[in-house]
Amino acid sequence: MKRCSVCKTEKELNEFSSDKRVPSGKSHRCKSCMNAYAAEYRKKHREKARQYAKKYREENLEKCYAWRAKYKQRKKDVSAYGNKELTEIVAIEAHWVARNRSKATGVQHHVDHIIPLRGNDVSGFHVWNNLRVITWQENIMKSNNLPEDLR
Ligand SMILES: [Zn+2]
Repeated sequence: MKRCSVCKTEKELNEFSSDKRVPSGKSHRCKSCMNAYAAEYRKKHREKARQYAKKYREENLEKCYAWRAKYKQRKKDVSAYGNKELTEIVAIEAHWVARNRSKATGVQHHVDHIIPLRGNDVSGFHVWNNLRVITWQENIMKSNNLPEDLR
């Protein structure tokens, strides 16, 4: 049994968490007191951090706006570039798959835009997630209409 220094209650040793910094190897707070203390500590620090950030923002408004604009622009650049590059890779892969499948099956396969570039209802884009490989029959049956499940 050990007495918690906070709630002054005698509790089993396993009711105390370990603390390597003290000779006994057990914290002087019981687990429930420790949890309460940790929660209080987090709350205090979160409040402090929030106040600090707020103060900083207020004192450096211009800087913060500039940063935010720069960050947004960079994010845009990266995603546009990433998409273009990815589309190129997927398109090359798709053509490779189409060629190999045609050779393997003897049925002509085409790279297809799932949502047609010039569809009757909606127009799709030449982007990586709008590409797939289908047989020429499917391609003709589709004839620039939306696939069944997208209608
Ligand atoms: Zn306690």
